[in-house]
Amino acid sequence: MDSLSTIDTKTEEPWLFTPGPLTTSSTVKQAMMHDYGSRDNTFIDINASIRKRLVGIINGGDDFICIPLQGSGTFVIEAMISTLVPKTGKLLVLVNGAYGKRICRICDYHQREYRVNETAEDEPVDLQLLDKRLTQDSAITHVMVVHCETTSGILNPVDEVAGIVEKHGRELMIDAMSAFGAISLDAAVTRFSSVAASSNKCLEGVPGMGFCLVRKSVIEQCQGNCGSLSLDLYDQLMAMEKNAQWRFTPPTHVILALNQALDEFDAEGGVKGRGARYRKNCDILMKGMIELGFKPLLKPALQAPIILTFHLPADPHFDFQEVYDYLRARGYVIYPGKLTVADSFRIGCIGRLNAQHMQAVIGAIAKYLQSNNINLKQHKSS
Ligand SMILES: *Cc1c(COP(=O)(O)O)cnc(C)c1O
Repeated sequence: MDSLSTIDTKTEEPWLFTPGPLTTSSTVKQAMMHDYGSRDNTFIDINASIRKRLVGIINGGDDFICIPLQGSGTFVIEAMISTLVPKTGKLLVLVNGAYGKRICRICDYHQREYRVNETAEDEPVDLQLLDKRLTQDSAITHVMVVHCETTSGILNPVDEVAGIVEKHGRELMIDAMSAFGAISLDAAVTRFSSVAASSNKCLEGVPGMGFCLVRKSVIEQCQGNCGSLSLDLYDQLMAMEKNAQWRFTPPTHVILALNQALDEFDAEGGVKGRGARYRKNCDILMKGMIELGFKPLLKPALQAPIILTFHLPADPHFDFQEVYDYLRARGYVIYPGKLTVADSFRIGCIGRLNAQHMQAVIGAIAKYLQSNNINLKQHKSS
């Protein structure tokens, strides 16, 4: 769907090949040009409509409800854990990257007991180990997994995880921040208690609001769990159900932008259409980078169409900061690596970008290599 009229290829703004903030359409940016009071009826209607539409994306029907929260994605992840896991609960965290590790830090802050099943950053979470842990440790009440671990771009097998967690009768929470809206998650197919994502990333809104889609039967049990007022999703939901308003100053402009972004999401064909554009972006980037001599971190079957990680070439003339500055000066923003296992860098393929943008950034990287006399095909990467 490269002909989408809301994809700009000529703009003053840099193109963000990053996993958030990311490139938004000019119509999404324009949607923010209004000042609404928090009690304004138009705003209240838009807020209610967005909450319904977000539940619709997971096919949540009447079983799920949307609790929005001010802040970046991490705020809602922290809110979800501290609201849903009771003080007497125990969480099993499936870790294969920085976002999984962040879940553990959140548990430390909120003094929730947890165990960790950790696998390498280029390996999916371990299903056999999950099954074993849940068999052995009956104290574990909740399991948490990251859908796409943005550290590497790896896709975790959420459906299989959900099947195992359901078999053992535990609750599953999902951090789907970088997958939501592009990789299918269907509540009628996959059994989970809650999922968290944000206005930014694959929904292509602006940053500033997270949301948790939670089973009504689960959130009903969560009064008094959270040790933080502003992060208490139970309190946030009760207040919003009562008067349709946010407890504290709502991010009105972010919500207007998300409303427009959801219209554009629907126009593209929802998860299917958006996922297809990102997959195409990903394939073009991968092919182009491999042709230039870069080595991807992940095996192709593990690669989610969200962000690509490449090993930093061993060639001493290839300096990431220099490449970053060279590309930034030409309007392309790429991303440093976040791996602990290898030196790397990342290029995102999400946001309001299409095949043309992917070709353009590859062309710019090729030019950089050429003008610095770097031929990666002669060198072994690390
Ligand atoms: C982006 C992201 C988050 C949240 O990050 P923020 O910077 O707080 O928005 C959490 N988990 C994953 C997997 C992410 O990609």
